[in-house]
Amino acid sequence: MSGPTSPLKAVRGTRDLLPPETALWSRVESVARDVFARYGFGEIRTPIFEATELFARGVGEETDIVSKEMYTWEDRARAQSEKAQSLTLRPENTAGVVRAYIEHKLGERGDLQKLFYIGPQFRRERPQRGRYRQFWQIGVEVLGPVSSGAESPVRDAEVLEMLATLLDELGVKGWQLALNSVGSAEDRKRYSVALREALAPVKDRMCEDNQRRAETNPLRVLDSKDPGDQEIIDALPKIADFLDDSSREHFAAVRAALDACGVAYTVNPRLVRGLDYYTRTTFEFTVPDGSGLGTQNALLGGGRYDGLSEMLGGPKAPGIGFAIGEDRLILVLQEQAETDVEREVALRLDAYIAPIGAAQEPNALRLARDLRARGLRVDLGEGTWKARKHFDVAERRHARCILFLGENEVRDGTYSLKRLNSSSPLVQNFDNFDLVVQEIKRASASGS
Ligand code: AMP
Repeated sequence: MSGPTSPLKAVRGTRDLLPPETALWSRVESVARDVFARYGFGEIRTPIFEATELFARGVGEETDIVSKEMYTWEDRARAQSEKAQSLTLRPENTAGVVRAYIEHKLGERGDLQKLFYIGPQFRRERPQRGRYRQFWQIGVEVLGPVSSGAESPVRDAEVLEMLATLLDELGVKGWQLALNSVGSAEDRKRYSVALREALAPVKDRMCEDNQRRAETNPLRVLDSKDPGDQEIIDALPKIADFLDDSSREHFAAVRAALDACGVAYTVNPRLVRGLDYYTRTTFEFTVPDGSGLGTQNALLGGGRYDGLSEMLGGPKAPGIGFAIGEDRLILVLQEQAETDVEREVALRLDAYIAPIGAAQEPNALRLARDLRARGLRVDLGEGTWKARKHFDVAERRHARCILFLGENEVRDGTYSLKRLNSSSPLVQNFDNFDLVVQEIKRASASGS
């Protein structure tokens, strides 16, 4: 062997999430869980890999996701009873949720299924800020038989209003909701034909990607951000002119319900979204430029998918859902935060214990145990450290106070407490555990 072996790194497009940042991830997830619970949602966890066919049928063969971004492998048979099978890491979670809905006959329960998920998704995209190959989504799906009200425009509005509440409670500033209707599967078909016709004479002037999309999936041309193609795209026919009466009425009712709740939105006729399963309402929430996302300004997207269950061999089960890009949400919250309070709160100790001499270490651990049992955030140092080092470590951990534990304290059952960031140089003595707990809590609450 020549030279040292180079250390291994995380695979391109994947990353490690470390403290203190993970505290923000936990907070986001717990606020989301809390909001979802208030709106009557229950959690679903589906496998992170599924049969490749699920995505080919559900998401659509012609989409970018299925045609070029999936992590797919041939899973060989291990036993006589097993067949070789093509499997794929899930690139999104809606198809998996609808598969589970069908498999477990959730429709037979009769009522509306309100489900949420939080988990990683995988797409082989070109990595950049806000775009990863493993990324997290927080999503919901609302679906059920027609009799459960799953098709009602009020459900669309409720989901959108819930998102507005969630983003507000998380403290996302300046979000904007863009809304559109892509109509029924038939409306889309007629619109695709019209688009293809309109694109035929002009597509040679467009970028390579759009030339290909014009052939395979003309709706995707509308998503294009290519600056040179915008003028052509703006002049293309609009989907609104291809909606049948029932889609038109549905969309009007969604907008009326949003107006009634006071949720602001703009209608964006180009918002058709890339996946094949969308019908009627489609939407996207974006944040203003300068919110930390660069060109990836879509925080979340979603829409209605009234025919998806049937596409996957299930019963009629109209539904609507969304997926928030959690990685992007975190980038925005970090960028918009005025201070790093988040980090401090996550790391801050209520008390730091400094054992004096190695012999006191077991007693220090015992004291830490008792304080933690009272709900305090506590850590302890090494008995061999000098006082200076204890102070340094305590300060780095944003501890509110230090408890010194020496032979005397252990013998007498007393506590010597020094408040940090306080003008008083005093070490206070307590001979009662409850009193010292009270004092630590007071120091934490007062922020000094
Ligand atoms: P989609 O499933 O494509 O509608 O995406 C829903 C949301 O997931 C987007 O609005 C993004 O916030 C997020 N997202 C999609 N792809 C990625 C990616 N490669 N990396 C990070 N977030 C993503």
